[in-house]
Amino acid sequence: MNQLDRRTFIKLLGAAGVISSANSLVLPGSATAEANARVVVVGGGFGGATCANYLRQYDSSLNVTLIEPNVQFVTCPFSNTVLAGMKSINFITHNYDGLRKNHGVNVMHDMVISIDATAKKIKLKSGKTLVYDRLVVSPGISFNWHEIEGASAENSKIMPHAWKAGTQTILLRKQLEAMKDGGTVIIASPRKPFRAPPAPYERASLIAYYLKKTKPSSKILLIDSSGDSEELAMFRKGWEKLYKGIIEWVDGSEQGEIVSADTKALSLTGHTIGTLKGDVVNLIPPQHAGEIARVAGLADESGWCPVNPKNFASTLQKNIHVIGDACIAEPMQKTGHSANTQGKICAAAIVVELNGGTMPDVTYSTGIYSFLNPKYALSSARVYRLKNGKLKQVAGGLSAKKASRKTRLKEARFASGWYKGITMDTFGKT
Ligand SMILES: Cc1cc2nc3c(=O)[nH]c(=O)nc-3n(C[C@H](O)[C@H](O)[C@H](O)COP(=O)(O)OP(=O)(O)OC[C@H]3O[C@@H](n4cnc5c(N)ncnc54)[C@H](O)[C@@H]3O)c2cc1C
Repeated sequence: MNQLDRRTFIKLLGAAGVISSANSLVLPGSATAEANARVVVVGGGFGGATCANYLRQYDSSLNVTLIEPNVQFVTCPFSNTVLAGMKSINFITHNYDGLRKNHGVNVMHDMVISIDATAKKIKLKSGKTLVYDRLVVSPGISFNWHEIEGASAENSKIMPHAWKAGTQTILLRKQLEAMKDGGTVIIASPRKPFRAPPAPYERASLIAYYLKKTKPSSKILLIDSSGDSEELAMFRKGWEKLYKGIIEWVDGSEQGEIVSADTKALSLTGHTIGTLKGDVVNLIPPQHAGEIARVAGLADESGWCPVNPKNFASTLQKNIHVIGDACIAEPMQKTGHSANTQGKICAAAIVVELNGGTMPDVTYSTGIYSFLNPKYALSSARVYRLKNGKLKQVAGGLSAKKASRKTRLKEARFASGWYKGITMDTFGKT
């Protein structure tokens, strides 16, 4: 560790909000054989961009390369506000200038097509090959299209998922704008685990907000394969107040799961729910770790990637770490906030390990805000610690069940502050 002493490193960990005790941190005092090590990060979303950024903040002697196909990143957080017409797509679009200019990350716009864990090499779509000492993989999610007859990437141009933000968000927004008053919007959400578990409820709320203002005779059928939960109960209470008669919740759990989609008839079918027809159909398919994780043998039979939560090292491949939605880090939910936290912890662990030290105890924080309308938001915020190698919740929970309008408004304001903070932090803006 050429550039960083123990005290500065602890300060950085503290500022990143992950350190809970510096007592166990062990760093050797001098530079080691792995100074100037090459760390390659796959995927420039919440997990990958944060990790690349913090690797360089923790140890500026590292050679950090981030591979991301897109020149700009469109965030899923706040994408439901775009559907509602509250925010523009530009508001949720970010570039990589901060990572390059402020933190010296080498950002390459390319796609990783294979990983050779034995030779420590990756191949890119452009034909290039890169060699690494450590690899961090944060590719987000891919869809299990085959589980729904008639669903495919091609057919998502008719029934958008809008579960990866960008053109799909714009498409769904346009469909909502074009829908006649009195139309039906179907939102079909998959069984868990999937990214951002409360986001289908936020989506139903914010589409209802838009419809109530502009097409008040319209309605929403929310086919929910997660089944009942405490969180859902809080949303339903809010819907009773704000969107009575607009949002109808349909139990799509177990036998209710969507098994086929007919893009011509704009209908979805599940065993117990029968066939439901909409004017706009938002079909969110079941998910698994981003395809490259599966191709590289990082995922198990569940479709997600097992890791050691201490450092997010893959338990299946050496010298590779998996963070973000792709990894199995339950009970942490698959959210951008979780991915950001994991990116920082993984970066710290890599720096410590490359220098022959041991990681201190850290805290794992996560949370998610959900709007019901611009002045009414709910949240969940949780803190975890490692106990016997497993993540255990030590604090936090959902918003208060009973709260005044003022409190819900405050949460909506906090949500906006959270978004500004996390995007600055993730993409290295100043
Ligand atoms: C509607 C919606 C609302 C949400 N709201 C919130 C919220 O309010 N708060 C919150 O915390 N979370 C929210 N989330 C969840 C959040 O978006 C994800 O949990 C988060 O993006 C996960 O980060 P990640 O790094 O794992 O994946 P991503 O952020 O998706 O990043 C993955 C990146 O990897 C790249 N990639 C994939 N494969 C390759 C490859 N082979 N080579 C190179 N690059 C590759 C992709 O292009 C992508 O940029 C929401 C999600 C949705 C769908």
